[in-house]
Amino acid sequence: QVRVRFAPSPTGNLHVGGARTALFNYLFARSKGGKFVLRIEDTDLERSTKESEEAVLRDLSWLGLDWDEGPGVGGDYGPYRQSERNSLYKQHAEKLVESGHVYRCFCSNEELDQMKEIAKLKQLPPVYTGRWANATDEEVHEELAKGTPHTYRFRVPKEGRLTINDLIRGEVSWNYDTLGDFVIMRSNGQPVYNFCVTVDDATMAISHVIRAEEHLPNTLRQALIYKALGFSMPHFAHVSLILAPDRSKLSKRHGATSVGQVSIGYCCLSLFLRLLLREMGYLPQAMVNYLALLGWGDGTENEFFTLEQLGQWMNGQHLRALPSEKLNKLIGERWKSTGFLVESEGPFIEEAVQLLKDGIELVTDSDKALSNLLSYPLHATLSSPEGKAVIENKLSEVSSGLLAAYDSGELLNALEEGHSGWQKWVKNFGKAMKLKGKSLFMPLRVLLTGKLHGPDMGSSIILLHKAGTQDIFSSQAA
Ligand code: GLU
Repeated sequence: QVRVRFAPSPTGNLHVGGARTALFNYLFARSKGGKFVLRIEDTDLERSTKESEEAVLRDLSWLGLDWDEGPGVGGDYGPYRQSERNSLYKQHAEKLVESGHVYRCFCSNEELDQMKEIAKLKQLPPVYTGRWANATDEEVHEELAKGTPHTYRFRVPKEGRLTINDLIRGEVSWNYDTLGDFVIMRSNGQPVYNFCVTVDDATMAISHVIRAEEHLPNTLRQALIYKALGFSMPHFAHVSLILAPDRSKLSKRHGATSVGQVSIGYCCLSLFLRLLLREMGYLPQAMVNYLALLGWGDGTENEFFTLEQLGQWMNGQHLRALPSEKLNKLIGERWKSTGFLVESEGPFIEEAVQLLKDGIELVTDSDKALSNLLSYPLHATLSSPEGKAVIENKLSEVSSGLLAAYDSGELLNALEEGHSGWQKWVKNFGKAMKLKGKSLFMPLRVLLTGKLHGPDMGSSIILLHKAGTQDIFSSQAA
C-alpha cells in the first residue's frame, strides 16, 4: 500500500514550498488509493511551538489537504508528533549499539573542536577521527561508571558508496568517506533529526518519501540507518525548490522583510500562507492550483485545475501507465459490474479500452466513454426500418435543402427567433420537401445531431446554435 507523509517542523508558518510538498504527497496518495500521513517534526524543542503547529494544521485544512493519519485524526502508527516518540528512538538506538552499528562517544567538546582544527589545517573533511570508534568494552564501562556524558555515533563504512534511485532525480550516489561517524543521539538523550525521521518513516511504513530537494543530502545518513536497522528503504522523490527571483533559496527572509519593494509574483512566492495569502483574500482553490503549477503542467496550455482535477489527472496518468492486460481487466470488470457487458474480458473490451483510454482519468469515466461510443448505433440504424428509410429515401434530398437553408441564412434567422422561429421554419421546410412527421424529423435529426434519437429536436438545435455563436464556453470545454 502507498503511504506518504508530510512532515513539517512547527517552527514558523507553513511556507509556500512546504504547502506544495504537502500537495504533491496528498495527490500521490489520493491517486494511488493510499494514505496521506501528517507527522509533526518537533524535535527542535527550542524552535517548535504549539501555535506554529496549530497554524500549520489550519493552513493544510484550509487548502483542503486532509490527512488520513496524524494529529487530530489518530491512526495505527501513532503518536504522530516526534516529541511523543522518544522511547521509540531510544529503543532503536540501543538496538544499533548492540549490533555494533552505533558506539558511545565520550569525547568532550574541546576534543571535538581540536579534531576539527586539525582537519582544517590538513585540509581534510571535518569527519570524526576520535578513538571511541574502536574503544574496548572496558574503556567504555569505565567512562559509563564515571558518568561521563556521551553521544551515540553511527559507524559509517570507511569506503564504498551508496546509490539510490530517486524517482525524480534518477541515480544519486555518495562516497562514504565524505561522511564522518555522525551523532544520532546527543549527550542529553535527545535524538538527532535524521535518526528520528528514519525511525519514523520505517515504523510508520512509509512507502514513498516525497520532499524538498534540500533534504537530498540527508538521504545518505538516513539510508545508512535504514540498512543498519534492517528496514527496507522507501522510494525517494526529491522535488525541486521554489527559488526567489535571484535564484537564492526562498526563505522566511524573502518578502517578510521587504514586502513594499517586491513585485506581485514575488509576493505570491515569498509570503506566508497564513499571514498574508489567506488574509489577503486568496481562495484556497487558487492556492492549490498555483502550487501545483510550480514545477508541473499537464502538457497543455491549461492552467486551471481544481484539487479534484489534479487528482484525476494524476490518476489518468497512472491508469494509462498500467500494462494493457491490467487496464483491460480493471475496465472490463467495471463494465461487467455496472451491467454494460456480460463478460469482463475478451477482444471487444481490449479494442474498446484501446480506443477510449485517452479520454479516461478515473475507471468510472469508462462508463460514459463506452455509452457515448455506443450511442452511434450502427446496427440499430442500418437494420431498423426507420433507420433504413431515413438513409435510403430522405437523407440526400433533405441534406441539399438543409444546406441551402443554412447558406442563405434562412435557418439561422429562424433560430435567432427561438422556438417560434424554428417551428415556422420546419413547417415551411417540410412543405417545400413534401415531407412531414417522422420522414421529415428523422433525417433532420440525423443530419444535425448525428443520431437517430435524442431530446426534443427544436430545443437541441436552438441550444447548439447558441453554443456555436455565443461565448459561453471556457477555453477548456471548447
Ligand atoms: N521536517 C522537515 C521539514 O520541515 C521535513 C523532513 C522530511 O520530509 O524528511 O523540512
